[in-house]
Amino acid sequence: VLEMKNIVKHFGDFTALNNVNLTVEDGETVAIIGPSGSGKSTLLRTVNCLTRISSGKITLNGTTFVDGKPGEETGRLKEAKYLPDRELKKLISETGMVFQHFNLFPHMTCLKNITYAPIKVKGEDPRKAEARAMELLEMVGLSDKRDEFPNMLSGGQKQRIAIARGLAMEPKIMLFDEPTSALDPEITGEVLNVMKDLSAKRITMIVVTHEMGFAREVADRVVFMNRGQILETGTPEEIFTNPKSDRLREFLQAML
Ligand code: ATP
Ligand code: MG
Repeated sequence: VLEMKNIVKHFGDFTALNNVNLTVEDGETVAIIGPSGSGKSTLLRTVNCLTRISSGKITLNGTTFVDGKPGEETGRLKEAKYLPDRELKKLISETGMVFQHFNLFPHMTCLKNITYAPIKVKGEDPRKAEARAMELLEMVGLSDKRDEFPNMLSGGQKQRIAIARGLAMEPKIMLFDEPTSALDPEITGEVLNVMKDLSAKRITMIVVTHEMGFAREVADRVVFMNRGQILETGTPEEIFTNPKSDRLREFLQAML
């Protein structure tokens, strides 16, 4: 379970997250939708500490890793109080993130991309890590690419490798930030299908997406963000068929 309470994030004078509350249950797939600049990426990045919050409380599977009031001074930035780095790192290794722009290691083969963190971070036995990587390659339909370098792959294939790499750490939660928005329309499907499979396997997922079809069909719950706040949250049915606010109605009209 991921619990986020009263999350506030300031960038200088700008408030990117303004008192956000969100709980994600184990096995749930949550889609985050909303206009550009509404804070979707920022919210996602607070979960794996790529962005540190100004105040609020985040608990992942019973461990509260940040809890702080506005304006507590820690180090050179005003941010809420985090666990010590070592404990934080361990917790972050329990999250997997997939970005818009793949971020694969260019100098490593697909297989190495997937085994690198389990071996390096978790100290896993290389043969065990490799066996698991082969299973993951199989799962994303790319067993034949194990020895290729990322620059030989299509965007959709790169993204599927990135997903396999994320899963290799056996994360408790997978975070996706617009994983298909850099892809040609005709290959977004292959990546969305992999994500749909993960959702069916009840892997806990938060997916920031502009793919309304995916949000509607695959998500258990949809969160609509606007100006740093969660304006509405509900089942796909509630969000897409019965939007409560004019803002969401406008947004959906523009998207569909
Ligand atoms: P998009 O759909 O375009 O990806 P988003 O909903 O993901 O948008 P965020 O990237 O979370 O939006 O950004 C929210 C706001 O915070 C934006 O106005 C952005 O300019 C601002 N912001 C994000 N990161 C930083 C940063 N590192 N420094 C300053 N401002 C930032
Ligand atoms: Mg974003």
